[in-house]
Amino acid sequence: MDSLTETSSDCPDIASQHQLPRGYMDLAEELPFAAVVSSDRLPFVCSFCFETSDDKPFNRCSRCKHICYCTRNCQKSDWEDHKLECQSLVRTKHRGPPTPLARLIARISWKLSRGDEGVAFNGRRFNDLMNHRENIEKDPVKADFYVSLSHVLFEFMGPECVPRPQEIMDIFGKIISNCFCITDWQMNSIGEGLYIGLSVHDHSCTPDANVIFSGSKAILRAPQHISGLKYSPSLLIRYVPLMQTTPERRKQLKEQYYFECTCDLCKDKDRDRVARSVRCNRCPSGVCPVDESFVQLICSSCSQISPIDVDEAIQYNLQVAWQIERLNDIIKRNDDKEDWNQALNEAVKVYDMFCTKLSPLNMKMAHLVDQIQKLSVRINAVCVGARFSTLGMAAYNRYLSKGNPELTCHYLLSAVCSSLAEPPDPKAMELFNQAQEAAVSSHGLRTSLTAEIDLMMHQFKNRLVKAV
Ligand SMILES: [Zn+2]
Ligand SMILES: [Zn+2]
Ligand SMILES: [Zn+2]
Ligand SMILES: [Zn+2]
Repeated sequence: MDSLTETSSDCPDIASQHQLPRGYMDLAEELPFAAVVSSDRLPFVCSFCFETSDDKPFNRCSRCKHICYCTRNCQKSDWEDHKLECQSLVRTKHRGPPTPLARLIARISWKLSRGDEGVAFNGRRFNDLMNHRENIEKDPVKADFYVSLSHVLFEFMGPECVPRPQEIMDIFGKIISNCFCITDWQMNSIGEGLYIGLSVHDHSCTPDANVIFSGSKAILRAPQHISGLKYSPSLLIRYVPLMQTTPERRKQLKEQYYFECTCDLCKDKDRDRVARSVRCNRCPSGVCPVDESFVQLICSSCSQISPIDVDEAIQYNLQVAWQIERLNDIIKRNDDKEDWNQALNEAVKVYDMFCTKLSPLNMKMAHLVDQIQKLSVRINAVCVGARFSTLGMAAYNRYLSKGNPELTCHYLLSAVCSSLAEPPDPKAMELFNQAQEAAVSSHGLRTSLTAEIDLMMHQFKNRLVKAV
């Protein structure tokens, strides 16, 4: 596929309102070979185009009553892939839909049996993917998982349709290490998709290019100076979020993709030490980096020794991490606003408990702030949202560079949180501007994100005018 350049004629309305992006461009785009919406998001995400709805569920397929679509057109377009899935969902309706992974394997298997092996933009086919079979067989957790998955698929697809065990293993192995997590504008996972062309790209924690999503479409975007304006299969992308420490990234890479990353960021001990840092008790913005090998914690600005010792600091980090996990579980499990309210109160309590100890550059604290912001937006918690709107900023700016989609999403979340305040606070407008500028770099003008931010800014401006 030819590289895509953004010209103002592509999208005149939006382009006329912005400086055209300097430095970043789309190099390739791809629709998924197969994709499924996460189980908890099925009512709110269109199973064909992955458009999202915030609160009003989309119309359900009238036969299976599980799969939802934003329009009749999307439903029609998905029918070839959904037809057998629909029959299976009806036949097994007493159990409810199986896991997204099982649904994805089923969709791929049905597609392959129709003779479609999906030639991607770079010539890659389903058969070219690696299945890591030996690694799966050696890994007891994955091997067990594979066995239970086979049972689920047997039930779901039915004895006539279910592929032979080797085929299930082949598809399973190929998708667990080649699948992309499809995200919405808040970088929340909304589903899983197999992009045969883009899965050729190897990983680096200092990637050449980013993959972003506009609905179900994946777009490969890179700074012009790195790509030299051309698509190449050797461009490196990131497989895991970069707002993580090296051990966290490496663990995920090892478990899911079976390799050890040795990039420069993985050798950067200072980044990881600051990511776990505690506050200096003398200078307001001073941080004391944390490492198991240290005897004492020392402020990197004033050299004062922290009264917090190394073990204590590590414990604090673990406690915040544990709370984040726990709250994530509550949020995932429940659709109940009462529970979200309670989760938000607890998250704020945890923040208040640790913010005097852990530093503003501490990554776990930044994640906690992110969680508080997302919850505030969901349940429209005006005061909390306004209070936390810019609290994670220092950490995000420190660990992520411009053009990184994670950074854009954080900026936008800050702006949205800040805009909750009543009467509207003009500060939110500055944050929206910052988010829009970041989005033009990271996502470009072809995605729905820049249009979405424009709309949010427009609505906020109206509120500001009315408030005067
Ligand atoms: Zn749709
Ligand atoms: Zn259906
Ligand atoms: Zn790395
Ligand atoms: Zn200090």
